[in-house]
Amino acid sequence: MMDDNRILIAGAGPVGYAAALNLAHYGIPFTLLEGDATILDDPRAGTIHPPTLEMFARLALTGTLNDHGYIVRNYHYRDRKTGLVANFNLGVLSNDTPYPYRLMLEQHKVSSIIDNALKNYKNHEILRKHRVTEVEQDNHIVVVKVETPNGPTIFRGRYLIGCDGGRSQVRKFMNVNFEGFTFPERFLVVTTPYDFEKVGYAFTNYVSDPEEWCALFKVPGLDEKGIWRVVFPTNPDLTKEEIFDDQNIEARLQGFHPKSNSFPVVHRNLYEVHQRVASCYRDDRILLAGDAAHINNPLGGMGMNFGFHDVFNLTEKLAAIWFKNGDEKLLDLYDRQRRTVAEEYLQRQTIENKKNLENKNPEARKKFHGELREIVADPDKARTYLRRAAMIEGIERAAAII
Ligand SMILES: Cc1cc2nc3c(=O)[nH]c(=O)nc-3n(C[C@H](O)[C@H](O)[C@H](O)COP(=O)(O)OP(=O)(O)OC[C@H]3O[C@@H](n4cnc5c(N)ncnc54)[C@H](O)[C@@H]3O)c2cc1C
Repeated sequence: MMDDNRILIAGAGPVGYAAALNLAHYGIPFTLLEGDATILDDPRAGTIHPPTLEMFARLALTGTLNDHGYIVRNYHYRDRKTGLVANFNLGVLSNDTPYPYRLMLEQHKVSSIIDNALKNYKNHEILRKHRVTEVEQDNHIVVVKVETPNGPTIFRGRYLIGCDGGRSQVRKFMNVNFEGFTFPERFLVVTTPYDFEKVGYAFTNYVSDPEEWCALFKVPGLDEKGIWRVVFPTNPDLTKEEIFDDQNIEARLQGFHPKSNSFPVVHRNLYEVHQRVASCYRDDRILLAGDAAHINNPLGGMGMNFGFHDVFNLTEKLAAIWFKNGDEKLLDLYDRQRRTVAEEYLQRQTIENKKNLENKNPEARKKFHGELREIVADPDKARTYLRRAAMIEGIERAAAII
């Protein structure tokens, strides 16, 4: 049992784990409280952007991440009817980052890799089947009530970081709103071993269509032999059973890429899609990060990356407070920096990505596709565009906020 001079983290998703590894690296004792018994492997984040790889390099983790993922140096913007629109080459970012590529690696593997890395550090505990139910604080301490298999118990710490996802329980005990909206349609993710590379697709593809856009990615998969995820919007009037119906799924895949035999399907998953940002990331000793602080649609592969950027920022400030008697106003700066970019950048960009893919106006679509063709034909324009899409611009904007 650790003493109260520690930081509590609620939620061992990828963001909670990244917060934990940073604290371990700084030498700050912590307790990571996770409700679930194991790391869930449902198909969510699979894309890691250059600034995230730069940050994990500080923790000597990027090499291991690279070893398990696919290094993807180009991606396609396509149209379902006209085919390839633009082939984005991330090499134009080679003066901006040592990692001018997207790393395709599933989020549960990132969590497992961090879990393993934490074994090299002392002064922490990771407690599974420990679900945070209530939170209280005074001027000195945060007290967290936790449900465990042996009944309720209490943990105390100097600060609490709520990394407990979009439905954050921690957030409910803070004086904040979770403002924004939920899309009427849910997103269906179908996973198939069918090899789309042999029919011309890149490892990452955004495919626009006024009726049924889709996004297509290759990730290593459980056996690391490669598996493809296809993301489709769904009709809000259909039930989950109707959406998951074999014939419906086959019809969607055949509609996207007709072929003579049927598609093998290994998984089907359905996600609600929201665009929301917490009205403040700090309530005195309680802080929010990751999906607990902001949620967005997955087009562009940004949510988890953004959460990582939150905790690298936050833990640096906590370390300054912990070891150098830094002013707690640093925690307000964390809120200003990260919340501002979540609103100005993460929300704006992901909403725009979705609008562009589903745009029903033929003239506007033609114009947008023409713009993308111009961008990829001009290295300066491509660099400006990709600095934003690869999340470099957002980091620089946050750093400029004082
Ligand atoms: C289809 C899809 C594709 C995506 N693709 C990408 C992508 O390519 N790139 C990207 O950056 N992002 C992507 N995202 C977003 C990404 O999945 C999320 O941003 C990411 O999971 C956020 O991580 P997190 O740790 O903040 O929250 P979560 O992953 O939700 O983890 C929260 C953790 O907290 C635990 N928890 C919850 N409540 C409690 C409690 N009361 N007490 C204790 N523990 C609790 C949960 O069990 C969970 O382990 C995608 C999302 C979807 C749906």
